[in-house]
Amino acid sequence: MPPPLLHTRCPELAGSLPFLRLGEGPTPVRRLSGLGRHSELWVKDEGGYGDGGWGGNKVRKLEWLLPEARRRGARTILTVGGLGTNWGLATASYARERGFGVALGLIDHPVDEHVRAQLERLRASGATLHVLHTKARLVLAAPWLFARHIHGLTPPYYLPAGGSSPLGALGAVEIALELGAQVEAGELPEPTWLVTAVGSGGTAAGLALGVRLAGLRTRVLGVVVNDTLRLDSATLLKLARRSTALLRARGADLPGIETAPDAIRTETAWLGDGYAHPTAAGDRALALASAEAGLSLERTYTAKALAALLDLEAAGQLDGGPVVFLQTHGPR
Ligand SMILES: *Cc1c(COP(=O)(O)O)cnc(C)c1O
Repeated sequence: MPPPLLHTRCPELAGSLPFLRLGEGPTPVRRLSGLGRHSELWVKDEGGYGDGGWGGNKVRKLEWLLPEARRRGARTILTVGGLGTNWGLATASYARERGFGVALGLIDHPVDEHVRAQLERLRASGATLHVLHTKARLVLAAPWLFARHIHGLTPPYYLPAGGSSPLGALGAVEIALELGAQVEAGELPEPTWLVTAVGSGGTAAGLALGVRLAGLRTRVLGVVVNDTLRLDSATLLKLARRSTALLRARGADLPGIETAPDAIRTETAWLGDGYAHPTAAGDRALALASAEAGLSLERTYTAKALAALLDLEAAGQLDGGPVVFLQTHGPR
């Protein structure tokens, strides 16, 4: 298994920052010729990433988080999400396969067929589910959840929603380093914008740091699809800087690597009524992506992100491109 590009870029990290490969990179890039009015649109497709029961961008986070859980001696991973959480499902399938218990604190959001199917898969995954319904009740239950999942003296390894800790965000650093290598190899032109859905922020934050490490001038456009967390660009930049600080603390020599204040732009106008509430614009983008580009999107994240991309592109607000859409959805 090849080492992560981050270890190649910063050899000092090879011994201090463990990595567990769970998928095969680089993920492909291809031109979306059926879409876009003024600029070249491309996709980097994370959908096939991962060797387990679930794909997409969450697997990239687990490649850093699971070996850290092991390093801490944790037996159980405790994390949180919505009823249809892709993050919870990815964690359950990859962590349990590697001998960890998984406990999930879940909160409510609108339930459709997709969410119902996800919930069934979560139930079948072997994870222990604690449905707390609201964020307030989840917070109140936290001490009990920690106590319930302690093993001897070792507490569960707690991960925030979406796995968006400074360490988890390194998953997207790896995606951006791959993109940098693909630009260098002439597979695609240097993008002006790299567009992603923002659900918990780790992906956008990691991409911003990663394009900087890759030496690209590309900026990150984050389409906010979650209104239950604070996800403005200042918050995402702070997470990117915490990831940078983590790399330095583990020994990386990163002179002059700081994410610029304009490295991440966020857009909130495609959220609709809230997290996991589908929108008409998202559903149109989903249909178009399937018909014109053979892309399989879902309604909570990627459909809204592509809708924003297409609307902004049509309005001439993406600086002429080229624009790369990050396909983060990986159904199996
Ligand atoms: C979680 C998720 C995202 C968002 O990534 P974050 O790092 O949580 O912002 C985007 N797309 C899909 C399909 C996801 O499951």
